[in-house]
Amino acid sequence: MNSATASLAQRLSSSRRIVIVTHMNPDGDAMGSSLGLANHLSEAGHFATVIAPNEYPEFLAWLPGQELVKVFSIEKELCRKRMMDAEIIFCLDFNTLSRIGEAGEAVKASPAFKVLIDHHEQPETFAELLFHDVKACSTAQLVFDLIEGMGEKERISKNTGMCLYTGIMTDTASFRFPSTSAHTHAIAGYIKEIGVETWLAHEQVYDGNSYNRLRLTGYALSEKMKILKEVNCAYITLTKEELQRFGFRMGDTEGLVNYALSVRGMRLAAFFMEKENEVKISLRSKGNIDVNQLARKYFSGGGHRNAAGGNMKTTLAQAVELFEKVVQDPSQFQQ
Ligand code: 5GP
Ligand code: MN
Repeated sequence: MNSATASLAQRLSSSRRIVIVTHMNPDGDAMGSSLGLANHLSEAGHFATVIAPNEYPEFLAWLPGQELVKVFSIEKELCRKRMMDAEIIFCLDFNTLSRIGEAGEAVKASPAFKVLIDHHEQPETFAELLFHDVKACSTAQLVFDLIEGMGEKERISKNTGMCLYTGIMTDTASFRFPSTSAHTHAIAGYIKEIGVETWLAHEQVYDGNSYNRLRLTGYALSEKMKILKEVNCAYITLTKEELQRFGFRMGDTEGLVNYALSVRGMRLAAFFMEKENEVKISLRSKGNIDVNQLARKYFSGGGHRNAAGGNMKTTLAQAVELFEKVVQDPSQFQQ
């Protein structure tokens, strides 16, 4: 056992109240890694709470352990109290407190011992203990490794396995991205071996489209995608009004940006979504185009080299105008 793992195992042995907090607009890895860890700890007798800063999409609302989740934006006082009372706070799948909104203040204020488990670039230093690897395909994989590191692999339950599998599956786009390693497949293999019905995760996450969501996707692809051929870039925009027209529900635009990147020859893709007081931007790239740098430099965001995001407090048109301008010189964010 390495020293960080040993130190965590020792702390866990004398702590009962655990909070696991994950990032705003939780995705499959955020919920999968958090619930995977929460199930594992609950089964060992800990009192674990998962705190999501805001609501998470319906296609993740089947993951085992839902009853352990509290949504900060809905139950602020309860969430603050759980964080103040916690002995350990785990921060999963983010590494800057700005990613968890108002919940960040509560994390800072809590006297709990803080542990960061994450795979995004350039972590901030707010945790006492760090399990961080940018090469890991997902935070769920890091949680699996940590459990194994503590000698508890044989104790991984089907519920925990299902959550961790879902985190890995969603963050690798079903084992497609280059971050998928032999080790990733070995973990998936182990999870299958213990009897988890992994096909259910695919069905729940990918085959649960609403009629509206599919129509919104069709509209975005046929009417709202623009290609900047000279710079091998494709992007999609959606206004508030357009989202409303298709009865937008959280999660409906998840993955839309990947279609833009899938156009032959594209090396950079973006998706702009107009929100109440800001524009949310999703960025994807191939090869050495570093969208983490692009997001940090122009869109107050961050992420990974090939998948990042950010936001702008401007109009949609202004955000798109800035984007079109900066992509003319890709050398500034090429690695
Ligand atoms: P998505 O485009 O799917 O929302 O996010 C892609 C990646 O970028 C994720 O790994 C996510 O954590 C990161 N990301 C998205 N939005 C932001 C943001 O506003 N700030 C930071 N630091 N990272 C973001
Ligand atoms: Mn992740």
